[in-house]
Amino acid sequence: MPRFTSRVAVGVLGVLAAAGVAGAEPKLAVSPAAVHPGDAVVVSVLGATSMPEGKAGGQPLHFFPAKAGYQAVFATALDINEDHVLVEVTGGPKPVSVPVTPVTFPETKLVVEDEMANPPKADRERIDADNHAIEQSYAKAAGAPLFTRGFRRPAGAATSKFGEWRTFNDGHRSQHLGLDLGESENTKVAAINAGTVVLVRDTFLAGNVVVVAHGAGISSLYFHLSKASVAEGDTVAQGAELGRVGHTGRTTGPHLHLSIHVSGGLVDPTSFLALPLAPAATPPAGT
Ligand SMILES: [Zn+2]
Repeated sequence: MPRFTSRVAVGVLGVLAAAGVAGAEPKLAVSPAAVHPGDAVVVSVLGATSMPEGKAGGQPLHFFPAKAGYQAVFATALDINEDHVLVEVTGGPKPVSVPVTPVTFPETKLVVEDEMANPPKADRERIDADNHAIEQSYAKAAGAPLFTRGFRRPAGAATSKFGEWRTFNDGHRSQHLGLDLGESENTKVAAINAGTVVLVRDTFLAGNVVVVAHGAGISSLYFHLSKASVAEGDTVAQGAELGRVGHTGRTTGPHLHLSIHVSGGLVDPTSFLALPLAPAATPPAGT
């Protein structure tokens, strides 16, 4: 009887409005209160009676219904050159300025097979196609959240953090846009939350890749798997096996590489996992 229930809810809101309670301006809260480039941020709007609209750093926010009010997640740009991000929501609340603290990411040197450090032209074309497929998959995370619980960090000690600069074989230099977790070969890789598998691909650099779309613009990416245990289109619960830890692609040994993409870019998974995300308890029907 969902229709009846929602009428009751509207009726209660109407009573509150009549009592003057819902007349208050919506409240805007941003977490964390200060960020580094590459950090994930959650914006919460309390007391709004309809889906808010807003911007962070001039880019539109994509809100979803939360347990209380509405939330939206965005990425602090890695190459941001301002000392703050301005979060604005239409309809009354005062904008919030989030200070950005610059960070110097560590530099490391890694030695890999030469064809991985300096790929020939044919492989570079494959790398471009891989990157394109991964970027295309992010759009499939748009829409309502497919999860109701908090995200769960995979096991394993961090062996390489987000943002580290790597020089391969004293040549190619690139930035590490994920979190490496030390795990032995063939350990189960579990979905960090419920969602839909939107990409399963054998890539040149990241090896066997699985991408899970969680809704709310959030995607989780799992690299270097020895094998994938899921297919594109599969619905997965939190903790479901996606594959097994391996060392496929450009690696120096078996580990799980976890990347998180939110609206605006790839973010530091550690910052993302600390966000106070609280989507509405029941995902909307039809998702
Ligand atoms: Zn990695």
